[in-house]
This record gives sequence, C-alpha cells and structure tokens, in this order.
Amino acid sequence: METMIPQPGFPGQRSMPADSAESRRYNRLVRSIGVADLAVGLGLIGVILAADWTSDFRNFAVRIAGDNHVIALFLYTSILLLLIRVVGIPLDYYSFLVEHRYHLSNQRLRLWAWDQTKGFALSFLISQLLVQIVYFLIRLQPQWWWVTGWALFMLLSVLLAHIAPVVLFPLFYHFHALADQDLTERLTRLSEKAGANVRGVYEWMLSEKTRKANAALMGLGRTRRIVLSDTLLAACDHDEIESVLAHELGHHVHKHMLKGVVVQCVITFFGFWCLKLAIRWAAFDWNRHYDQIDFANLPLMILVSAAISVVLLPVMNAYSRFNERQADVYAWESMGSVVPFCSAMEKLAVQNLSEREPSRIVEILFHSHPATGRRVRAAMAWAESHR
Ligand SMILES: [Zn+2]
Repeated sequence: METMIPQPGFPGQRSMPADSAESRRYNRLVRSIGVADLAVGLGLIGVILAADWTSDFRNFAVRIAGDNHVIALFLYTSILLLLIRVVGIPLDYYSFLVEHRYHLSNQRLRLWAWDQTKGFALSFLISQLLVQIVYFLIRLQPQWWWVTGWALFMLLSVLLAHIAPVVLFPLFYHFHALADQDLTERLTRLSEKAGANVRGVYEWMLSEKTRKANAALMGLGRTRRIVLSDTLLAACDHDEIESVLAHELGHHVHKHMLKGVVVQCVITFFGFWCLKLAIRWAAFDWNRHYDQIDFANLPLMILVSAAISVVLLPVMNAYSRFNERQADVYAWESMGSVVPFCSAMEKLAVQNLSEREPSRIVEILFHSHPATGRRVRAAMAWAESHR
C-alpha cells in the first residue's frame, strides 16, 4: 500500500495522490444539494412575497389572535417556519441518502428524523424569540430599532456561542472527557505551552452518526474547550492527534474566536441597516405599502438577510481560510515538524472523502478551509525553509 506520508525534505518531488472519481462525484453532489437547498428556500420566500401570500398568512393570524399582537406574530411566524421546513425536507432526505450511498453515514433513518425534529424545534424557538424582539423594537423605536436590534442580536449570538458546548451540542452528540491518560497529558502540556485557558479536552462521539472525522475549538470563556471526534482518535496516532490539537490551539493563540465576533459585529450592523432600508421601502415606496410594524414584511427581511449572506460567503470563506493558514503555521512551529500534520491531513481527506485538489473557483466559493493539497504543500514549503 502506498504510504500517505509526504516527504517533507523534498517538496514538489512527490506528486500528491489524485482525487478519486468517487470523491469528485460526492463533493459535486454535496455542492449541488447546497445550492439547490438555497434556491428552493429563496424561491419559496420569493413566491410568498410575489403572490402576496404573506398578507393572507397575516390576515389569518390576526383573525385567530384578535388584538393580541404577540400571539398573531407567533402564529404568522409559525406558518412561515413550518412551510420553509416542509419544502426543505425532500432535499434534506436526499442528502441523508447521499451520505449513506458514499458509506459516510451509519445513522438510522429514525435517529436522523429525530435529529431533524430537534434541530427544527431549536431553530423554531430561536427564530420566534428573534422575531418577537425585532417587531417589539420596531413598534417601540420606529427610527432606531435596527441599532438596538443589532446590539441585542450580537448579545444573543455571544450568549449562544457561550452555551453551545454545554447546552446546544449535547442535544445532538455525546461528549466525554478524553479517556487516554497518556494522550491527555501530552495535549494538556501542549495547551499550557500555548498559554491557552482551555477548559479540558473532550472526545466527541461522532461515530454514532458519521464516519467523518472532525476537531474543533468550542465555546467562549468558561466553556472554552477542545473537542476531538472519536473517529479522528481512532484513525490517527498520538503524533497526528497532537498536530490536530496544535492547529486548534493556533486558533486560540491567534484569538480567532474574538476576531470572529468583531467581524460578525460589523457585518451584522450593515445587515440591520439594510433591513431598515428594506422595510422603509416596503412601507413608503413599494405599492404593497406594508407598514413598518406590519409583520407581513418579514419575508422581505429574510430575503435581504439571505442575499447579504450569499454575497458575503466568498469573503467570509477567504477570511476563514486565512485564519486556518495561520493556525496551520502555529501547529508546525509548535510541533517542530510537519510530518504528523501532513499525514493527519491525508488521513482526514480519505476519511471525509474530501477533495484534495478542488478547482480554484470551487475553493473560493465554497471552502472555509484551504484544500488538503494546498495545506500539505504549504507545510512542506515551510519545512524546507526551516531546515
Ligand atoms: Zn481550523
């Protein structure tokens, strides 16, 4: 069997293993599903606005709730969320089938459906809360609701990031403290060397759902932790795991979480300003004349938010890839060798059926991480210049 470990001393001499036709097909399919999902969602919102179903939904909600604005808004939002969810089910089920077809998932249909239900319930609750806050503020401060809304939205995002590892993720996955004593000691030493105030290393029981491997730095402040999937722990040796952890610590050392929050603040501020412009336009310059406080303008807000996210996605991906490269360099420096990093990258690419060499345009549009081929080449070039 061909070794997956590149030769750090001879960059470029050994060509990377080419992507299999299977991996190309799988990744193309996943991208198509993502684009189709977005198109279906935006299409539905577009139809709801164009055919003015939104007025029908609003009239129905008001008829039932009477004068109670909170209940009317809750009913209206429920109709919208349920409709979006139902229309999205076929594609979600198709992507469940695709994961099985490529032997990446071993999850039973019943458990998958349960996960989907929990996910919907969670996003239902969060969306309802946000929508109530936004329309309460629009009624309270017709001029400045968007500034207060932005501040509250950011506060809520930070709170969610804070509680995610202890409240949200455990709804879907099991976690426990890393059992391997030797490995835990090595990883703790590495964290201390990085001056990281990390509260523990956890094993993420991903194998219950997928064969894919993953690692992440989760949480903020007191909930900050490093999680390594059991699938990763099973596939990699201790040196390789250490290099993956070193990469995660690189994110910590470079304060990527904090910087991410700041970037999010700026983008969300711009987003809320666009929402203000959109609903003013709908109230005064669009022949529909939805009042600012009329929640029939909600689909318009969803459309504007989605459009901003789509337009900014390549920019956010570029920013993320920049951070990933910084974390990679930290990993090589702290390990003093790129060999375990390169072999871990190769193993993960095989395990996750990811494309090592996607086309440049695919990488720019879709990838939050540099492609494996690029990461390994960068590691070998670094090793060459640090001999
Ligand atoms: Zn990373």
